[in-house]
Amino acid sequence: MHQNILRSIPSVNELLESPEISKLTDLYPRQLIVEAIREVLEDIRQSLTNRTNINEKEGTKVAGNFPALDGRGQGGRVKDTEFSDEEVMSQATDLSPQKLLPLVQQVLQQKLCGIEHAINATGIILHTGLGRAPLAEEAAKQIQNILESFCTLEIEKYSGKRGFRYHNIEQLICTITGAESALVVNNNAATVLLALDTLARGKEVIISRSHLVEIGGEFRMPDVMTKSGAILAEVGTTNKTYLKDYENAITENTGLVLKVHQSNFKIVGFTETVDLKDLVSLGQSRNIPVMYDLGSGALIDLQKYGLPYEPTVQESIKAGVDVVTFSTDKLLGGPQGGIIAGKKKWIEPIKKNPLTRALRVGKLTIAALEATLRLYLEEGLALKKIPVLKMILTPLVTIEERCKKVINKVGLETRVCMNLSMVDGFSGMGGGALPGENIPTKLVCIHSDKINAIELANKLRNSTPPIFARIEQDRVHLDMRTVYDDAEIDTIAVALEKIAGFSGNCVVK
Ligand SMILES: *Cc1c(COP(=O)(O)O)cnc(C)c1O
Repeated sequence: MHQNILRSIPSVNELLESPEISKLTDLYPRQLIVEAIREVLEDIRQSLTNRTNINEKEGTKVAGNFPALDGRGQGGRVKDTEFSDEEVMSQATDLSPQKLLPLVQQVLQQKLCGIEHAINATGIILHTGLGRAPLAEEAAKQIQNILESFCTLEIEKYSGKRGFRYHNIEQLICTITGAESALVVNNNAATVLLALDTLARGKEVIISRSHLVEIGGEFRMPDVMTKSGAILAEVGTTNKTYLKDYENAITENTGLVLKVHQSNFKIVGFTETVDLKDLVSLGQSRNIPVMYDLGSGALIDLQKYGLPYEPTVQESIKAGVDVVTFSTDKLLGGPQGGIIAGKKKWIEPIKKNPLTRALRVGKLTIAALEATLRLYLEEGLALKKIPVLKMILTPLVTIEERCKKVINKVGLETRVCMNLSMVDGFSGMGGGALPGENIPTKLVCIHSDKINAIELANKLRNSTPPIFARIEQDRVHLDMRTVYDDAEIDTIAVALEKIAGFSGNCVVK
């Protein structure tokens, strides 16, 4: 029986030439359609084969990834579905082009789906998956300005001479932070690599065991240090490190003392860390540079606004650190990038390192970063214009209003069926800033007897534009701290209506 079905699977050419599927050539490149058909057929073949094998052994109902020919489960091809044997038979017997068309279309859409605008209702302000910091309007405009023609990337218009790519940014960074010299590269991981490669290749880098952090993805401090050719000289313990630990570790071959911000975790209880000033004094007395990887790189002290302490770039420079490194798309709120700033003596050799060329940023980054940094020349302006700072400082009443807007924009039936309500919760900083600190927020809570939380979150994600929510206690929550655009509020309301209506999830009486 299964063998017969396997034999009845149509060929790629049959499908390609069928009237239903051949129409797709008006919309998609032929090569992509062929690939999509192949993938769909291969999926069917595989799940039929798996099913045959499993069923022969167990003879019972099994889970497989048989394509949801009836469109059920929405995730379709990529989602595991569960069908009884009878269901497989009845569906598999109809492998007509008409039945397969939606599957092929779905694969094509997945293939062509690239980076797109998304709505972040997770409440995580610096969400790496969602692109970290949204840019200020000024930054976006500056990119737009240089996009379609030439620009003064590496030329000084007054003299007509070849200039330094980072000239303007360097001036801005120095003015804002008090550093003598600065440089921008692709991200903060690159700043650390580059600084270590320049200052400590083949030499020992003294670092506390409590600073050997993993940031996420592939960034683990000890691995990056090794990659740069530096030799790790670990001192202290996980919870306690004293100045004498650093002192005792200094040898003739010490190249650098490194402090790393514990971006995404906290060590509490019986702890001891060395004051930055004391490290600086030690470095100065032994002529060893001290570097501080700040990670998030706050340029404004947010304690004034009731937020927890986060070290600022300015205070580190003031404390006399030789080199600081930080991201430009975390608390700073700009495009992806990493800044190395500090004393000329140590920054100049970094600028001359050939690796700098390999890690350099493009003109789009420079345009956006310059515009973002310019806002910091006036603290009030930065707070008013930079989305990351705005999101952090949004008062609860404003978030409450946004929740109410969503709830009120949704029709009564949907509102009732989905039990829309406003609840208290917490937003998170993400992106390795303010670890362990949660910011109180208001959330739209959604739950329905008709549609479970996972399925609802899937549907929201598959809306256009995709809406990313979070699930807590089996309920979908939309944190409106990170949804600051009125148009996005409308989009969410429309999406909820659609989900309630289309899927027949809400039986309206
Ligand atoms: C985030 C972070 C990094 C990595 O920065 P990217 O800009 O993501 O490359 C490095 N060090 C610390 C301490 C961080 O917090």
